[in-house]
Amino acid sequence: MGLILVRYGEIALKGGNRHLFVSRLRRNIRDCLAAQGLAGEVTSEGQRILVRTELVEDALGALARVFGIVSLSPVVEAPNTLNDITAEALRQARERGVGGETTYCVRARRPVKQFPLNSLQINEHVGGAIHAALQARADMSHPDVTVAIEVRQNNALISTRTIAAEGGLPIGSEGKVVVLLSGGIDSPVAAWMMMKRGCGIIPVHFSQSPGDTAKALENVENLRRYSYGFDLRPVVLDHAETLAPYLQGLQRIGQERWTCLFCKRAMLARASQVAQELGAHAVVMGDSLGQVASQTLANMEVVSFGVAKPILRPLIGLDKMEIVALARRIGTYDTSIREAEDCPFLPAGPVTRASVGRLKGILRRLKALDEASQAEEQ
Ligand code: ATP
Ligand code: MG
Repeated sequence: MGLILVRYGEIALKGGNRHLFVSRLRRNIRDCLAAQGLAGEVTSEGQRILVRTELVEDALGALARVFGIVSLSPVVEAPNTLNDITAEALRQARERGVGGETTYCVRARRPVKQFPLNSLQINEHVGGAIHAALQARADMSHPDVTVAIEVRQNNALISTRTIAAEGGLPIGSEGKVVVLLSGGIDSPVAAWMMMKRGCGIIPVHFSQSPGDTAKALENVENLRRYSYGFDLRPVVLDHAETLAPYLQGLQRIGQERWTCLFCKRAMLARASQVAQELGAHAVVMGDSLGQVASQTLANMEVVSFGVAKPILRPLIGLDKMEIVALARRIGTYDTSIREAEDCPFLPAGPVTRASVGRLKGILRRLKALDEASQAEEQ
């Protein structure tokens, strides 16, 4: 059995809620292992979580995607005597090729204060032993190999590898949000950012064409690699059906240029309902300010006007290049850039600077139209 030391940062600061965050994190870690088909045992000790599992390398890759984890180290246990610790540290330093050009440094941590030496003294002792045995040069600022030692109540944990994870908060610890997920580049990244902040996400997609919907659903699968502890269940709704009540009216009053704004408003209204039904607190969109002609602040105000749930736009301040870099890193980009049919309702010259005043005017005219046609029917 191998052993992995899990470090979490931010969540350690959460005061009274801390144990809830940690138990959520443990649960998500267990889910992650199960999803990889790995057997494992997950326990908390002090400010660390320990994972015992057979396939350490496989587990490391997947655990690095569990939000809430800051870093991971494969560790070896040793009895907590100075001799045993030194022997194991030396063995690992040798294995990592410390000596000659390869520099090292020792960083001990001693949450258990009974140990006869303090951290500095442990560093000096173990560092001295490595230096003597391997003719190695210590480098405190940019070592090639860092030997990390954690001295605990009943044993010590020693490692020479630290794998950075994503950080953030454990999924589920901040509740749920609905994400408006298109087949494009941005919304999957927005979804990922909300997951990173501890939200379980409910993807809602409005189907415009089979190709676009296939992309959105494929990106749900790509995001699943990060959603340990929360099952992703996409909701697919019909775009034309959602838009139909407005489309005809806009044509009749000669305001087709408002189609995209009404489309977004219709999506948000529906997504808001879904959020209410499924116990989610907000609706998330992938807009970034000014990225395209339609994503002006004025349009966002119009699109958001009267929507029941808060609308979150985690990409609002990012440049396209930053969003693309994230999309590549999290594995949604290749799916997003695949060619798909354009939206069939895209009007010529969509409105770029709408205002709530004009929106209200249009809503009044649509209502009057509605009432007139109802009166005709009667
Ligand atoms: P994306 O890359 O996320 O598609 P975009 O730059 O193409 O964004 P818009 O088309 O203006 O921008 O869409 C803005 C946001 O509206 C999207 O980020 C997404 O949250 C939502 N959205 C757009 N189309 C759909 C759709 N078919 N289903 C669900 N949500 C959508
Ligand atoms: Mg799009």
